Parts: sequence; structure tokens; C-alpha cells
Amino acid sequence: MSKFTVTLKKGKEGSILRKHPWVFSGAIRKTSAEIPEGSVVDVLAHDSSFLGRGHWQNGSIAVRILSFTNVKIDNSFWVKAFKKAAATRRMMRLPAATNDVFRLIFGEGDFLPGLVIDWYAGHVVVQAHSIGMFQARHEIAIALQDVFKTQIQTIYCKSGDTLPAGFTDEKNAWLFGDASSAVVTENGNKFEIDWVTGQKTGFFIDQRDNRQLLAQYSKGKKVLNTFSYSGGFSVYALNAGAKLVDSVDCSAKAIKLTDKNMELNADGDYEGKAYTEDTFAFLKENGDDYDIVVVDPPAFAKHRDVRHKAVIGYKRLNMMALKKIKEGGLLFTFSCSQVVDRNLFENTVRSAAIEAGREVSILHYLHQPSDHPVNLCHPEGEYLKGLVLKVGK
Ligand code: SAH
Repeated sequence: MSKFTVTLKKGKEGSILRKHPWVFSGAIRKTSAEIPEGSVVDVLAHDSSFLGRGHWQNGSIAVRILSFTNVKIDNSFWVKAFKKAAATRRMMRLPAATNDVFRLIFGEGDFLPGLVIDWYAGHVVVQAHSIGMFQARHEIAIALQDVFKTQIQTIYCKSGDTLPAGFTDEKNAWLFGDASSAVVTENGNKFEIDWVTGQKTGFFIDQRDNRQLLAQYSKGKKVLNTFSYSGGFSVYALNAGAKLVDSVDCSAKAIKLTDKNMELNADGDYEGKAYTEDTFAFLKENGDDYDIVVVDPPAFAKHRDVRHKAVIGYKRLNMMALKKIKEGGLLFTFSCSQVVDRNLFENTVRSAAIEAGREVSILHYLHQPSDHPVNLCHPEGEYLKGLVLKVGK
């Protein structure tokens, strides 16, 4: 038994019995006492039967369930969870000689809500999205070393942007080792990743499969990669034999990373340039000479109440890209806004195509890769969606 208990209102146990990992504050009838944030609590049904054990946090998601059975949250719990996740990744051939970058833990999809762990060739970045996970970071680091032993060179906690404000503890800090960057290989492409100064955990691993698909279409083509960040799509196009690769990002730091990664892969000079510019502004002036355009913006909507504004943004962006693209060209378009679901995204792109007045057909439906799994009873875990469009007259 945990020291703290949370008892649900009658009839509110259904979602936990279905293995949904969140307890909303409105479902709670009573709590045992003042519970410090981040504590492990037992969640009980109205008749006091055990439902699960998880991390407590003030807010609308009051408990994130770590286990639906009565087990201690100790070293053996973490070791088992990481072994299980690693075994699942091995089934996906992650890591492999050509691929040493992957997401080891994807929160709810790996039944560890609030925790993200990325693997960069033996350097591990731990990102806590809940106070409980942040407070467990040292136990997590020990368990990772128990499981992966000498394969691990660095463990860096990067939770500065993912936790509620007000903590005094060091949210970004090394838990083991001291490296801040490494060169990694993704589907045979080289990238330098800096997890200390980079965005998120340093790299957008979630586009791995979609970048590989772009590579299949890129030989001999002129490619424009907008919202390029560290040049993920650009590097794949280059290595696949594109005739020209241009990249656009509004962040000068991101463009530096793009240039660095292009140079890391290029065999001497290559055709193309990386522009520090707003994509909307760039597309106004340019964009009519590309065979393939990639549009991968940051999440335009982080909350439901701004979804409408986000939809307007996606529509405008896709309309601009569709208007510009050469006849017979391809548009790779994405949304990583969790609140804009697959249907809404497709409808938005449809209305952009209508307004652009182009003939458009869908060649591929794209999504997040298998190392970003979705708990079937927690559809909120699905966030990345994309379309590959063939643009005609
Ligand atoms: N496609 C990238 C990830 C994109 S992340 C990859 O595969 O790694 C989104 C990027 O969009 C960030 O680098 C951010 O700096 C950039 N960005 C945000 N708003 C922008 C805008 N209006 N114009 C250009 N870039 C923008």
C-alpha cells in the first residue's frame, strides 16, 4: 500500500479498468490527506478496492497511473518497464547498425505516463512531463544503467520546458556522464545532435519513417524542406540524390544545424541553400520551382481552445504550398497538433486544395513511427499525421 490514497466517486472506475492511465480531478471523491505533488498514490474504487498506483499532481489530470496491479514502484518496477520497452524496440530493429536513434519510452504508449526517454547512440535523454517522473529521475537513471550497463555513456535530464513553472530543482542536468552532443545514424544518414541546446530532446525522431519515404521520391528532384529544424528531411533528400535541396526555418540556430548536418553528409559541394526565414514569407516570394515541398510546422495548437486558429494556420500554409508547387509535384504535409485529429487535418488540407484550385490526390497517409506507440484506450497519444499529395493542374 502507498502512504496516500485517492478514492473515486461511484461509477468513475470504468476508464481505469479499461487501462486508460489518467484520473481526472473531477472523478475523485476523497483523498487520504494533503498529498505532496509527485507522490505515489493508490487509486481506489468507491468500495475501496484497488484500481491502480500512480503519480499525484495538482491539476485536471490528478493521477497518472504507473501500474494497474498492486506492485511497488521500486528499482525492479523501473528495470522491468525498461526491459519490456527495449524488447519491443528490438522487435522493430531498434537499434541497428544503420539506426542508433530511437524513442525508448513514449509516455502513455509505453504505460509510463509523463515519461519520455530518447536514445542517441548510447546517450540517453530523459524528459519528465510530470512532477512524479521528475522526482523519480535518479531512480530512473539507476534502472537505465542496470538494464543497459556499459552501453550507456550519458544520461541527461531535459525537463525545463515540460514541467509546471515554479520548481527550484535543476530541471536540465546530467544524471550520468557529461557529453552534450553526438553524431548518430538514422537509416544510414548522419546527424549531429545536441541535446543540451537543441529543441525538445535534441532531434525529431518521430519523422524517421516519413523522411525515409521522402528519400524514395527524391532522386534527381528539386526539394524544398520548410520548418527544417536540424535538416532531417533535407539530409535524406540529399543522400537520396536530389538535384537541389533548399531548407527554411525561422530560427538561425536551426539553420546552423541544418547546414552542419548537410555538410556532414555531403560529398563535397551540393546544390541548395538553407534560409533563415519565416516559411509564410518565403513561400510568398519563392516556391514555384520545386518538385517536392515538405511542410512540417510546429504544433499550431497546443490546446483545444485554440484549435480553430490552428486550423486557419494549416489551411493558409497548405494553400500557399499547393498554389506554388509544380504540376506533377509532391507535397509532404504534416501536423503534430494532438488536438487537430486526422480527419480535421485532412478536411483542412482539402479545403486548402479547393481554394488553391488544384487537382490533388493522396498518395500516402503518414503517422508517427512504431517507437511512439499509442495505448489503444488512450487515443490522445496519437499526434503526428501527414499526407503525401500529388499535385496536378
Ligand atoms: N521537420 C523537422 C522538425 C520541425 S520542428 C525535422 O524533421 O526535424 C518545427 C520547426 O519550425 C522549428 O525548428 C522552428 O524553429 C520552426 N518554425 C516555427 N515557426 C516557423 C515559421 N513561421 N517559419 C519557419 N520556421 C518556423
